[in-house]
Amino acid sequence: MSHLNQTQLTQAREQLAALEQALQAEIKEELRNSDDGNTLNLADSVHDAGEESVADLLRDLNNALINQHLIALKRVNIAYQRLNTGHYGECSDCGEEIQWERLLKQPAASRCVACQSLREKTYDANSQ
Ligand SMILES: [Zn+2]
Repeated sequence: MSHLNQTQLTQAREQLAALEQALQAEIKEELRNSDDGNTLNLADSVHDAGEESVADLLRDLNNALINQHLIALKRVNIAYQRLNTGHYGECSDCGEEIQWERLLKQPAASRCVACQSLREKTYDANSQ
């Protein structure tokens, strides 16, 4: 069972909901940008190869951002599942309790500080 009390779990659920909404809004906005926004207009209006690569770069950046937000959204969904199964706040690597202070800042955190920093040292800073 989770080491958190009912009040903390309720708070975590609210924070996850807010995070989910924010991410969905950002993804929606980014998808709109990639459909009919600046990057496409820019891509249509350029002929010079150098400018085309700038347009490509902008589109790639936007796609990378969408990708990042989709990954974050997935982590929120995993955190929801853990809430529903009573395992919210347990480290997915060592099974120890994740500090409540950490969860307050990062409601979708799935690892304790020790495991997260170990992972960041082992892999790269962006891998979750
Ligand atoms: Zn851990």
